[in-house]
Amino acid sequence: MTDNRYDIIIIGTGAGGGALAYHLAPSGKRILILERGDYVPREKANWDPQVVNVDAHYNTKEFWLDKDGKELHPHTNYYVGGNTKFYGAALFRLRKEDFGELRHHGGISPAWPISYDDLEPYYTQAENLYQVHGNRGEDPTEPPANSPYPWPAVSHEPRIQQLSDDFARSGLKPFHVPVGVMLNEKNPQKSRCIRCNTCDGFACLVGAKSDAQVVCIDEAIKYSNVTLLTNSLVKRLETDATGREVKSVVVERNGSLETYSADLVVVSCGAINSAALLLRSANDKHPRGLANSSDVVGRHYMGHTNSVMMAISKCPNPTIFQKTLGVNDFYFGSKDFEYPMGHISFVGKLDAITLKAGAPAIAPNFTLELMAKHSLDFWLTSEDLPDPNNRVSIGRDGKIVLTYTPNNLEAHERLQAKLKQAMKQTNCPIHGHECHQGLFARNLYVGQKIPLAGVAHQNGTIRFGHDPKTSVLDANCKTHDLDNLYVVDGSFFPSSAAVNPALTIMANALRVGDHLLEQLGVSTTDRTAQPALAQAD
Ligand SMILES: Cc1cc2nc3c(=O)[nH]c(=O)nc-3n(C[C@H](O)[C@H](O)[C@H](O)COP(=O)(O)OP(=O)(O)OC[C@H]3O[C@@H](n4cnc5c(N)ncnc54)[C@H](O)[C@@H]3O)c2cc1C
Ligand code: SF4
Repeated sequence: MTDNRYDIIIIGTGAGGGALAYHLAPSGKRILILERGDYVPREKANWDPQVVNVDAHYNTKEFWLDKDGKELHPHTNYYVGGNTKFYGAALFRLRKEDFGELRHHGGISPAWPISYDDLEPYYTQAENLYQVHGNRGEDPTEPPANSPYPWPAVSHEPRIQQLSDDFARSGLKPFHVPVGVMLNEKNPQKSRCIRCNTCDGFACLVGAKSDAQVVCIDEAIKYSNVTLLTNSLVKRLETDATGREVKSVVVERNGSLETYSADLVVVSCGAINSAALLLRSANDKHPRGLANSSDVVGRHYMGHTNSVMMAISKCPNPTIFQKTLGVNDFYFGSKDFEYPMGHISFVGKLDAITLKAGAPAIAPNFTLELMAKHSLDFWLTSEDLPDPNNRVSIGRDGKIVLTYTPNNLEAHERLQAKLKQAMKQTNCPIHGHECHQGLFARNLYVGQKIPLAGVAHQNGTIRFGHDPKTSVLDANCKTHDLDNLYVVDGSFFPSSAAVNPALTIMANALRVGDHLLEQLGVSTTDRTAQPALAQAD
């Protein structure tokens, strides 16, 4: 065995790669983790809205191309922990029905090759690992769970509680959003999380957000059999003469190319970069790209239809941590619209600096500063449907090309109308129904050719399924065309559902992890014989 030979190579340290590395680390197998980025530097700028949201300091500086060949600047992050370093940590299970076929206004959302019950135990593991705070039984669409959340829900601040009460009075079933922050409200002195207003979209300066670096990678590399190489960009995968096995992983590191190999290779670069890596790895045996006999690699790109809606009230909204309230009453439809509409929750509290970067229409008699002080900042997500023409491909100079035409838009418009209606029914004790001044969209498109959130929730480009003609991965997330190549990031989704994707990516990576341990002949005893890792407080 040479130094460059491992049992497993995991490429990428985000939601998928991180969870897998954590799960496999105690096995004793030689594991190499390759990450193109470095650690997010710990600095005050981590929590500066100007630096983060306006200057986009932590975003990748690379450019992709749109379908017309114009450059676009993707709002995505390459660091240890991947996009979870900056995510809002809303950690939802998909609904049980999302695993079956669902009829939408815009077409069919296809069934998954596994059922909700197959993933349920791994959802529980992922919720425990990510210290999810939530209350079961409040969300009317929540799937059955075999255990409670490990932590109680993060409490609403008074303005959000008032809104929740208003919604409940009007017949809705508002619930506490499950979030992965290490907040201990019973014992604030011991709490790692200080409940601040720079969480969603920011890296946590005090390491209190449950992200893939803090929760998974930092723990995995405590094992001597695990090696992490940062600033290591995987350029391509090469196969053996039969084309059935990845023989070597070619990495650009410190300005030169290095080669690594392993019995099993797991790609987890995020849905767009993983598809790009397979397409760039085309060879004689795989002329359309690695594992792409189906011509499905890169296709069916989805990223949700998302919008940020600001409800402006006469009353101020001094909330600090806003991402605590959700409404799923319209997730599967309503009496007047029989198709799924989606999910309503919140983004982190918007401030005037951030608003300047995507200025909404101004409410009459309000400035941006006043709007930020008085807004409730809703996040609306509707399902977009898999369309083979929405795809990642490789363009000039090997650049990523992202082609995307939104679909199923009626669902999103209906969801916005439902929120508008619900807000009209709110009844403030001071201003009555006159308190609510209207809903204003914050533009997600400013300065970018595609919606920011379209890339944040990227999925679907290397879908799993039973049929090798219509999918790239089998139900274990192994490529149909190769014997030692797996994918565990958001690429595998055959449909995007309408809740945030990260918990499903984490849970699936843990599920695939069990399968890989079997492939490597690791028995249950071997796995449990390792010392337990310390829990974050
Ligand atoms: C601002 C923001 C807020 C979000 N909020 C939420 C939320 O509240 N809830 C939720 O569920 N989801 C949220 N998301 C989405 C969530 O972060 C992603 O769904 C999740 O991180 C995707 O996991 P992944 O493993 O597919 O990819 P990533 O987490 O993107 O990980 C991919 C990793 O691969 C590395 N990489 C890429 N290419 C290569 C290469 N060639 N060689 C080596 N390494 C490579 C990257 O640097 C990265 O570390 C949010 C995202 C953003 C940006
Ligand atoms: S709210 Fe808590 S977890 Fe989020 S950034 Fe602030 S301290 Fe970190």
